Amino acid sequence: MRIARFSIDGNVAFGAVEGSTAPGAEGELVLDIIKGIPFADFELSGVKVPLGKVRLLPPVLPNKVVAVGRNYAEHAAELGHSVVDDRGRLEPPITFFKPSTSVVGSGDPITYPSFSQDLHHEAELAVVIGRMCREVPKERVKDVILGYTCANDVTARDVQQREKQWARAKGFDSSCPLGPWIETDLDPADLTIQCTVNGEQRQLGRTSDMVRSIEDLVVHISEAMTLLPGDVILTGTPAGVGPLNVGDEVAVTIEGIGTLTNKVIKRG
Ligand code: MG
Repeated sequence: MRIARFSIDGNVAFGAVEGSTAPGAEGELVLDIIKGIPFADFELSGVKVPLGKVRLLPPVLPNKVVAVGRNYAEHAAELGHSVVDDRGRLEPPITFFKPSTSVVGSGDPITYPSFSQDLHHEAELAVVIGRMCREVPKERVKDVILGYTCANDVTARDVQQREKQWARAKGFDSSCPLGPWIETDLDPADLTIQCTVNGEQRQLGRTSDMVRSIEDLVVHISEAMTLLPGDVILTGTPAGVGPLNVGDEVAVTIEGIGTLTNKVIKRG
């Protein structure tokens, strides 16, 4: 099931997306409004609205977004890093937070930050947590995941390189586009992940190239902190990151999910 969050007539609701998501056919999509919330047992109301008549919102409002750095070896290499130490052992995963205020939905603008001159896109598969959990064993990870969506870990690369912690470089307002919806029936092990800017391909990878699996990441993160329903884990970006300029339209497409599209605007 594809679960979208949207606003209609000033109200916020969740809906199950019905219809084809083939490129160009998005106007045909319909939302069956959900009674309740997707983090508990819910029913479809049977009340349907065309997707084109609503404003899509971020599919969740996470309490926290936990992101993982250098989870694709080729991307680590393009920034001059390795995922293994000098004895060939895997480095521990890099984890960092993006605040809830960084989250925007598909169609929302990314505002170019005033303190950067080198904004980058990072297409990533996002894991949406479905239930409160901690110290999740590997074999239970599937039980705590509601589904998957597309993310863009938008990064002020120059700020990331000159500041030791990445809170500003990766946590500014609108630096975490998520969407367009959550796909709940998906095997995330080997999906194409792509980023285009103004229609031109910049990133193309497969989730099977992750250094750490989704299971390993959930185990690692939940060892340290309680994950809440709606929390999001960003799983790292494949090679091909590059600059975004004001006016660009950046799109992240993940096989089996859909496309997250955002335009970069100047700070007003
Ligand atoms: Mg990233």
